[in-house]
Amino acid sequence: MKIAMFSSEVVPFAKTGGLADVAGALPLALEYCGHEVIVVMPAYRCVGEAKLKISRVSEGVTSSIIGKGVRVFFIENKPYFDRPGLYGNENGDYPDNLERFSFFCRRALESLKEIKFGPDILHLHDWQASLAAVYLKTLCSKDVFYKKIHSVLTIHNIGYQGIFAKEEFPKLGLDWGLFDIETFEFFNKVNLLKGGISMADFISTVSQTYAKEIQTPDLGFGLDGLLRKRRNVLSGILNGLDYSVWDPDTDRFITQNFSQAHPGDKALDKADLQKICGLRRDKDVPLFGMVSRLAEQKGLDILGGSLDEFCGTGAQLVILGTGDLKYHELLKKFSLKYPKSISLNLKFDDSLAHKIYAGSDIFLMPSRYEPCGLGQMISLRYGTIPVVFKTGGLADTVNRNNGFVFSSYRKEDLMKSVHKAVSAFGDKDKWASLVDNAMRCNFSWKISADKYIQLYAKAKKK
Ligand code: ADP
Repeated sequence: MKIAMFSSEVVPFAKTGGLADVAGALPLALEYCGHEVIVVMPAYRCVGEAKLKISRVSEGVTSSIIGKGVRVFFIENKPYFDRPGLYGNENGDYPDNLERFSFFCRRALESLKEIKFGPDILHLHDWQASLAAVYLKTLCSKDVFYKKIHSVLTIHNIGYQGIFAKEEFPKLGLDWGLFDIETFEFFNKVNLLKGGISMADFISTVSQTYAKEIQTPDLGFGLDGLLRKRRNVLSGILNGLDYSVWDPDTDRFITQNFSQAHPGDKALDKADLQKICGLRRDKDVPLFGMVSRLAEQKGLDILGGSLDEFCGTGAQLVILGTGDLKYHELLKKFSLKYPKSISLNLKFDDSLAHKIYAGSDIFLMPSRYEPCGLGQMISLRYGTIPVVFKTGGLADTVNRNNGFVFSSYRKEDLMKSVHKAVSAFGDKDKWASLVDNAMRCNFSWKISADKYIQLYAKAKKK
């Protein structure tokens, strides 16, 4: 099959979140399965920092290669994309984001023609690319080049929809008739993701549970009604994990490599983590790790309310993260109050993240909602037992055989799971079996890619 992906961020060229990982890894897994894939993204200022060779393709389009031969095309427009941030700066989102990404979608569609790549499937990611599904059915509908292309739109987090003032609608170059309740209109504003959801041939999101959750008023962020209407074409496919980066057997950042066959070697990583973080070196104290954006979504509200009780258990906790200042302050307060129990690291630090995944016994991820989540998949691979709230991708990857799951989003229920984990940790046989089950889990991209291929095949038949 021939697949073109449009994404506003792609590893290794530009990244603000998990979308970039997916857009960088899925094409390689599809290529490995024998499909022909190209990726199209904006030519941001940071693209050059990846230090990969970039060649000119045509006026306004350059390209590079990832994997064996996946071509990545960059859509140029200096005023729009030659900026320090992808979507905004310290003052907030760029005010012209509607123009920037409608330009990107239109130009990306044109570029397919210029490079003579007529895909079977146009795979679009998030609100920034979702307009392409609309243009395919409107501006491009009379052009034979685009007639056989089917679109798939993946929603990575429905909390981000691309919402703009109604007055901006004419800039999309579309008929005013589409500013209706069925398509773009959202509380008298323009909602770009909504337009894409209403027009894409198929819609996917990044876990099966999240695909159900976004159809509910609680987690649909206002789009649940439309998604219920389109449920026949909506599905969930879990993201994969890049095991060339996240493998305790080969990880370059950790003190001692270990594997499912030799999980005991993890003890050295624990001792090292305790030392680096200024915590008492003791193999018998349960060591919790947390690597996270410090945002409400990630469960910081219920965690904050539980820290007195948590420290009363005698367990240790290493936190690595940055985010909302109010959570920086809250966590600082507790780390000063309990310096022997909590090590707080308010920064982004890839190396320390690896050490935490490897050296902790238990991984805390009490997210209120989590479309897919990487942290729990990584921690499972490192035999670090996750404690999670039953939501989205966490519900699809963690269960009582490999972790601890609580199903009411309340600090009392979080703490019940923490107590259970602490007590299980004391039972060496039980713990060894949990660790073994965790390390056996396989979330490889190959599995996800196979599912996308099935979805593409369905879309192609439509
Ligand atoms: P999200 O994309 O919502 O932030 P995920 O769990 O899907 O959450 O992915 C987060 C990724 O970012 C994980 O790989 C995690 O290890 C990493 N990460 C988050 N915060 C930090 C940090 N402060 N330092 C290093 N890595 C981090």
